[in-house]
Amino acid sequence: MRRDQDEPDQRRSARVDPGVDRPFPPPARPAGVLFDAVLLDRDGTLVEDVPYNGDPEKVRPLPGVREALDRLRAAGLRLGVVTNQSGLARGLFGAADLARVNARVEELLGPFDDWQVCPHDDRAGCRCRKPEPGMVYAASGALGTVPARCVLVGDIGADMVAAGAAGAGAILVPTPVTRPEEIAAAPHVARDLPAAVTEILRRQNALRPTTPRRDRAGTVLVVRSDSAGDVLVTGPAIRAVAAGARKIVLLCGPRGRAAADLLPGIDEVVEWPLPWIDGDPQPVDPDDMRHLTDRLTRLGADEAIIFTSYHQSPLPLALLLRVAGVPTIHAISDDYPGSLLDTRHRVPVGVPEPERALSLAAAAGFALPDHDGPGLRLRPDAVPPPPAELGGPGYVVLHPGSTVQARACPPDLAARIVRVLAEAGHRVVVTGGPHERELTALVAGDLGVDLGGRTGLAGLAAVLTGAGALVVGNTGPAHVAAALGVPVVSLFAPTVPYGQWGPYRVPAVRLGDAGAPCRDTRATSCPVAGHPCLSRLDPADVLAAVRLLDVPADRPPARTGPTVGVAAVAAGPPVGRAVTTSGGSGR
Ligand SMILES: [Zn+2]
Repeated sequence: MRRDQDEPDQRRSARVDPGVDRPFPPPARPAGVLFDAVLLDRDGTLVEDVPYNGDPEKVRPLPGVREALDRLRAAGLRLGVVTNQSGLARGLFGAADLARVNARVEELLGPFDDWQVCPHDDRAGCRCRKPEPGMVYAASGALGTVPARCVLVGDIGADMVAAGAAGAGAILVPTPVTRPEEIAAAPHVARDLPAAVTEILRRQNALRPTTPRRDRAGTVLVVRSDSAGDVLVTGPAIRAVAAGARKIVLLCGPRGRAAADLLPGIDEVVEWPLPWIDGDPQPVDPDDMRHLTDRLTRLGADEAIIFTSYHQSPLPLALLLRVAGVPTIHAISDDYPGSLLDTRHRVPVGVPEPERALSLAAAAGFALPDHDGPGLRLRPDAVPPPPAELGGPGYVVLHPGSTVQARACPPDLAARIVRVLAEAGHRVVVTGGPHERELTALVAGDLGVDLGGRTGLAGLAAVLTGAGALVVGNTGPAHVAAALGVPVVSLFAPTVPYGQWGPYRVPAVRLGDAGAPCRDTRATSCPVAGHPCLSRLDPADVLAAVRLLDVPADRPPARTGPTVGVAAVAAGPPVGRAVTTSGGSGR
């Protein structure tokens, strides 16, 4: 009944391959570090927000900013400014005034490596005015890198949306005018710019081993025992370990097996359920544990690294591994591990899951090689080309289901999203597992292509390679898209933190009510009547997000639909409030 398959030859051929964060060109600098550059909003982030300021005398740096920027410079990070200055379009100051103000900013705060200024107002429909991501792309290019290797610090939701839509990291430093819903929706929040800088440098350093290994490790057992999404976000850490070990064996559960088969760097997979890991835990069978311990003993691993979510304990498995004779064990544990762990690593809450796992690998002495980056990736040979019946690339995929009910998109909403996208000229493909055929048929209706039940995880990856974007909740397929560089419209139920579980290092737009009562409950079935975090979402916002991600429609719109602007996306719930109403200059 156990599938305990060893397929070393198949996997050895897929040894860690040079990585690129598709769709961007490969960076010129070593890829193993997290960030090359920090992008900064100007007004309200670097300097006091003086509405439409054209007067250099009125430039006042915010407290601690000069010292914080100097810490970034000393760490070798490049600095760029990305600022909306609609006062130019409105004639409230001239280009010469702006140049004098920016020169004064540099006089007080030190030099920046790049300046990006949007001179337009809302009416221009430009691609540079935040929340559009144009300036993030332009700045990263000017700084010799790509958005995924940048983090943007700003004080309003438009900064967060622009960064996310380009695939950059983002940290919100709220001011008194930052709206509560913008704070709720931000992937990360810091008290002020100095605190944001401390966090950026902490995350950057967490991926570097304190004691790098001199020699290649022998056989390393890596463990990730929960679902497909969990296994996928552990992929970068597994590649880091693979780069410094002779053989990698992954112990995973049945729900993670399909994902394990897609990951580079794994030589052998041992599939075995750990009954205490599941949300619906099964009894522990002593015989089964004896068989598992025997299997692990025969494996003869020199070391083990147990990867977990922040709410899981590695200690029960660590005990079994000790019984199986594994001499060295590394894991994250807040609980006192006694003699069960050799490396007891600790990570603050809110760190993106891939970085959390990478920091454990680093604590064990493993780092990504220079040619590889921290993004998610799949073995190219494990993903077939997209089915010809889909008629070429560029379609939008909607995956309405989830293994966790609280994170699924309500079916009637999903059906309305298909309709709105199709009427705007997009081809829509609906995907789902074998148990979701009824759901996908309902959602696809007459306007979408229904692939429900026809794709395993590798098949879904194949479909996604031809997708312009994926519309999906917080579930495994979001991480498959991230691994393929396919932009994501994330219908994110806030039961867990977005900054921790959102699509990683890929262009993405977050939708849904981030401040809903289910926030941070970790609920698996929605604890609030009517599933309000997602059910109140307007399908027009999904279309706006697809446009923000620059996915072109295939056909002209079927008929004139409702007017949709990116402001609805930027503002977050309640939808439809334009970002320009929050006051201040440069908004
Ligand atoms: Zn512009």
